[in-house]
Amino acid sequence: MTTPQPLLDPALWREHLYSSGWRAASQAADVIEPATGTVLACTGRAVAADVAPATQAATAAQAAWAAMPPRERAAVFLRAAQLFQQHFDELALFVTRETGGILPKGQHELREAVAFCQIAAAMPLQAQGQVLPSTPGRMSIARRVPLGVVGVISPFNFPLILTLRVVAPALAAGNAVIIKPDPRTPVSGGFMIAQVFEAAGLPAGLLHVLPGGADVGQALVSDPAVAMISFTGSAGVGRHIGELAGRHLKKVSLELGGSNALVVLDDADLDLAASNIAWGAWLHQGQICMASNRVLVHEDIAPAITERLVAKAQHLPVGDGATGQVALGPLIDERQRDRVHAAVQASVKAGAQLLAGGTYDRLFYKPTVLAGVKPGMPTFDDETFGPVVNLVTFKTDAEAVALANDSHGGLSAGVISRSVGRALAVGNQLRAGMVHINDQTVNDDAVNPFGGPGIAGNGNSHGGPGDWEQFSTWQWLTVKDTPPQFPF
Ligand code: NAD
Repeated sequence: MTTPQPLLDPALWREHLYSSGWRAASQAADVIEPATGTVLACTGRAVAADVAPATQAATAAQAAWAAMPPRERAAVFLRAAQLFQQHFDELALFVTRETGGILPKGQHELREAVAFCQIAAAMPLQAQGQVLPSTPGRMSIARRVPLGVVGVISPFNFPLILTLRVVAPALAAGNAVIIKPDPRTPVSGGFMIAQVFEAAGLPAGLLHVLPGGADVGQALVSDPAVAMISFTGSAGVGRHIGELAGRHLKKVSLELGGSNALVVLDDADLDLAASNIAWGAWLHQGQICMASNRVLVHEDIAPAITERLVAKAQHLPVGDGATGQVALGPLIDERQRDRVHAAVQASVKAGAQLLAGGTYDRLFYKPTVLAGVKPGMPTFDDETFGPVVNLVTFKTDAEAVALANDSHGGLSAGVISRSVGRALAVGNQLRAGMVHINDQTVNDDAVNPFGGPGIAGNGNSHGGPGDWEQFSTWQWLTVKDTPPQFPF
């Protein structure tokens, strides 16, 4: 098989933005590869003043796009899926390097990207409304219509899929889209998507990429031409975005963090349980919104589970995931590393026992095991977003449920037991948007609704059946042969 020509063209984004084509930015910023500390790319950086021209161009392009024959719109997404597939290795490696993951994580993002585009390709060809019962002589239809311009504010950890899970269905529903990726990952979270969709034939003006900071995000939320904001990020910033969107009476979807619980009952297979815990807590260095932040283990099996986890922590290789066979890569930057380290140290000060890890070299944080973690400790109460197993013990299933629900909200939960019925009985009582019986908490599929209660979000779900609801709105249409005669 011949290797395809590279798709990514750094000359396009060097000091440029993607907004009505590739155009020079007023500012530029280096993208630092977390594993090496070297400059991976230099891209344009948007300022707040770039938002209004983008939303105006997007508004101008949107109506023609929504009116385009559905099969032509569908074809754009099929071609985008093909491009992601054809350039799989190149793009997966870039995502790996930009986000500091291991290669399988970059490959996962690419596989999901292909799936998001395939699913979006089907949307223009689906029924988009219902015929309502009506009075004779009047046709009454409830139909889904595009919102107009959708703004996407996305985070650094899985930038390609967390951006594309909005971009693809929002475009497919007939909208234009403005992306504000995290400035640490502007290529995977924006320019890569722009290049793919441009090559796939998306009409000009429909998609804009404006990497920038909080000021650019706020300008997007405040812009009157933007009908909806889809935000994925921290609960703190999400609260702020929600307030701002509310002031502008704007639809907003908030996909936030939280502290997820993984419950291991006393009849669990010890090796499988330890493997699930390690995967759920340490995958992508714990920088996953669904990470198993609180690991609740029955006290009878806690010593055996702890021993297994400490052994794993001591042996798992940590390093550059783009060049080596490692299990954990670096954290995204020093700020994130210092935040993780401070939380670990504060929990230790509050009485938790540090059994493994708790140290770092540059951005490489060692897989960490904390035992004796309790409510009131920072790593129990808050999302750690680092490679930390927080072991909490319980005596009864009821106590496990109470501990699991002792949080401000969870996106995902898991229960592990040899008895599916018992695990399901526990799972049914957990307050989480996604519950997995006999699996850890990090589970996602391009077709499932994704969201959670409390600080995990504001009740919206992306994905699968949620997409039409998210990215279009109802319009009631009635049609009569002739206008009626009224009494006056
Ligand atoms: P963050 O909230 O700091 O940043 C997210 C995005 O918001 C970035 O693009 C950032 O530039 C932008 N931003 C920051 N401040 C802003 C402001 N005041 N106004 C407008 N935009 C602003 O998030 P983070 O810490 O970088 O990302 C990790 C968080 O994201 C974790 O809490 C994690 O749980 C959450 N997350 C949630 C999901 C989900 O689907 N629920 C998925 C991944 C990550």
